[in-house]
Order: sequence, then structure tokens, then C-alpha cells
Amino acid sequence: MLLRGQTAVVTGAGRGIGRAIARRLAAAGAHVAITSRTAEQLHETQKCIERDNGRVLSVVADVTREEDVERLFAETAEVLGPVKILVNNAGIAPVAKIEEMEPHLFDTLVRTNMRSVFLCTRAVWDGMVKSGGGSIVNISSVAAHDPFPGLAAYGGAKAFVTTYTKGLAEEGRPHGIRVYCVAPGAVETVMLRGAFPEFPEDQVLQPEDVASLVELLLMPGARYSSGESITIRKS
Ligand code: NAP
Repeated sequence: MLLRGQTAVVTGAGRGIGRAIARRLAAAGAHVAITSRTAEQLHETQKCIERDNGRVLSVVADVTREEDVERLFAETAEVLGPVKILVNNAGIAPVAKIEEMEPHLFDTLVRTNMRSVFLCTRAVWDGMVKSGGGSIVNISSVAAHDPFPGLAAYGGAKAFVTTYTKGLAEEGRPHGIRVYCVAPGAVETVMLRGAFPEFPEDQVLQPEDVASLVELLLMPGARYSSGESITIRKS
């Protein structure tokens, strides 16, 4: 229970990696606010955490929208208290080569994979500075440095997340704010199967593998590794 009583926010926690991270943080004693756009999936995650006796708040929100993000963090602060942990996990991975990538899809990709990280981080930053620190984990991808055809824009957006993490870690250091990046390879989720239905099962991580790494980064032993991007992959 090393995160006992700490308030955490996990974006994109309706399924997949975000759900596994939210469950893991709650099991470590954190009070977890979870968010995604689909209420039914969010409530499924909520039920899992409550079954394990965890404390959880569900907030349906679109993290690309400033007003939704403001509401998410206001409700979280009111119900669970000041946020000490933020996991920027929400993302989309449309597979589209340059000739298939419509500008509106590109904009949605940028808003979801980049803008949301900025908006959510900005929403917690001041509170973390005032309360003497906090931890932020951003979920990137191995595609940030190794994009398959069709994932050029996705990989570029995830490269932003990696570099943004490094820069924010420098800005946060004097305030006790730690910022990490986790870059998974293939993970068994709706996203993976939507993009690559045939990806070999024996080369795929489970969402819980990523959740374990996120939990490790939140422990005191990782405090001198702020700014780092950690790759986790099976293939
Ligand atoms: P997933 O199964 O598709 O789940 C994504 C979650 O994000 C869902 O709960 C989704 O819910 C939410 N989300 C998407 N857009 C959102 C928005 N605008 N506002 C709020 N929530 C939003 O994906 P996943 O595989 O778990 O991926 C999680 C993260 O890991 C992503 O950042 C992804 O890029 C990264 N990643 C995944 C893999 C992989 O192989 N699976 C590999 C490397 C990195 P709604 O659609 O209901 O909002």
C-alpha cells in the first residue's frame, strides 16, 4: 500500500492499459479518478476497483477538450483531494499512410495524443508545485522511435510525448515534480487488435505488465530517474 491515500488521475481508463494502471494504483492504496468518453466502460473499471475495495471516482470526459479537463480535475480535487499522481494514458492509433491520412484525422490524432497530455499536465502542475511535488507518467510507444508504415503520424505524436516528458522533468525538478515516460511495444488491447489483428499472441504484453512498470516508477526508488523514457516490449 505504498501509494496509500494519494490521489491519482488515470486518463483513458475505460479499458486496456488505462484500466490495468487504475486497478494497480488503487490496489497500492491510491484514490483514483478515472476518465474516458464511454460511460459504460468507465463504470466497468469502477466496478473492478470497488470489488478490490479500492476508492474510485469516475468522470466521463474527453481529454482533448479544455472544459472537460477543467471539470475532471475540479471534481477530482473536490471528491478525492489534491492530485499527487497523473497518468496520461488516453490515446488513439489510427493506421493510415500519408495518402490515406485526412487532415481532420491528423488533427484528432494530435489533439488526443499530444494536446491532452499538455492540458492534463497543465491542470495539475500548479497544485503539485504548491504541495511540494507529485509524479506524472506519460504513456508513449516504441513507435516514437520505430514506427511501422501507417504509424508515422502516431509515432511522431508519441515522440513529442517522450521529448515533452524530458522537458517537463527539468521544469519540475526544483519543485519535486517527477515526470516519466513509458514506451510499450505491442500490448493486448482493443487498440492493438484494431490496428494489427494478426499480431502474434506470443509477442504481445498484457496491460498488467505496463501497469507494473508504472507502479515501479511511482516508488521512491525511481526518484532520480525523472525525465527518462522506459521501453517495455516482448518482441
Ligand atoms: P485502447 O484499448 O484503445 O484504450 C484507450 C482508452 O483511451 C480508452 O479507454 C478510450 O476510451 C480512451 N480515450 C481515447 N480517446 C480519449 C479522449 N479523447 N478522451 C478520453 N479518453 C479517451 O488503447 P490501449 O492500447 O489501452 O492504449 C493506451 C495507451 O497506450 C495509448 O496512449 C496508446 O497509444 C499506448 N500504447 C498502446 C500500445 C498497444 O499495443 N496497445 C502500444 C504502445 C502504446 P473512449 O474511446 O471511450 O474515450
